[in-house]
Amino acid sequence: MVTSPQSFWSRVTGRTRAVLSDGLKALGGPLKPEFYDDLEDLLVAADLGPTLAARIKEGVSKRRPGSLGEARAALETELRAAMSQAPRRLNLEARPSCVLLYGINGAGKTTTVGKLAHRLKAEGRRPLVVAADTYRPAGIEQVVAWADRAGVPSVAGRPGGDPAAAVFDGLKMAEARGQDVVLVDTAGRLQTQQNLLQELAKVGRVAARTLAGAPHESLLVLDAVLGQSSLAQARGFRQALPISGLVLAKMDGSAKGGAVVAIEAELGTPTKLVGVGEGLDDLADFDPAGFAAALFGDPQ
Ligand code: GDP
Repeated sequence: MVTSPQSFWSRVTGRTRAVLSDGLKALGGPLKPEFYDDLEDLLVAADLGPTLAARIKEGVSKRRPGSLGEARAALETELRAAMSQAPRRLNLEARPSCVLLYGINGAGKTTTVGKLAHRLKAEGRRPLVVAADTYRPAGIEQVVAWADRAGVPSVAGRPGGDPAAAVFDGLKMAEARGQDVVLVDTAGRLQTQQNLLQELAKVGRVAARTLAGAPHESLLVLDAVLGQSSLAQARGFRQALPISGLVLAKMDGSAKGGAVVAIEAELGTPTKLVGVGEGLDDLADFDPAGFAAALFGDPQ
């Protein structure tokens, strides 16, 4: 996995860090008795959610930090322990591999498909983009435009047609043309639309029948700006679909980055990628250590 420098995580976590790191500084040291309640408020403000915030506060106080520096270190340790311990590397060994991307409209799914196509191509892979949002012609146009921008071929489902058929066609085309990663942009769905989510589950089943081992990744794209609401989304999608990893888009603009920890703590699903801007290069592997250090550490 490419590990990003600490300065990268300091930049990406900028807005959440303003809440947490600066807030911590304001609490000052030596630690006063009210420190822990103030700390809990800060954790809630960074969108860790009340349950996890209470748990982390408890964990920090048990470590009996004697100074702000020790409290920071204890926080970092507690935070990393709360996050998923599962592997974060994308499983793309098989050729072709099939990656399905799910999410609500506007989360950042299409943009992520474009960025991932660009990155895989730069790594010497031969990606094919499948536009399987057959419900929205504009959705198809957008993902095809991203594939063009990345210089990667794409295949679009028939508007109004069966999205599973688009995935079948895409996988067959990839095998015929020697494309070795198939990236599927699915239709945006709300987590509450369980019947529509079942259509996405069918896309996954058709992929599994068409290509051995597929889907190799089923990524749920979440909008980091939404904080705790993303947790509700993740719960709903997980109920209907097997999810192998999360993509946190818009991390660059979020003051609620702490929600990543809450989502991982509850679901155990690892965040594999983060979106850090609107350009083709603005996609990074998620590094929990770098993330945790940047949230609470001193600015680099
Ligand atoms: P979709 O409906 O889930 O496919 O969402 P899109 O990919 O179309 O993204 C919705 C909006 O979010 C667009 O305006 C994107 O430019 C923007 N966006 C996506 N990812 C990021 C990101 O990582 N950072 C920022 N700042 N904006 C993003």
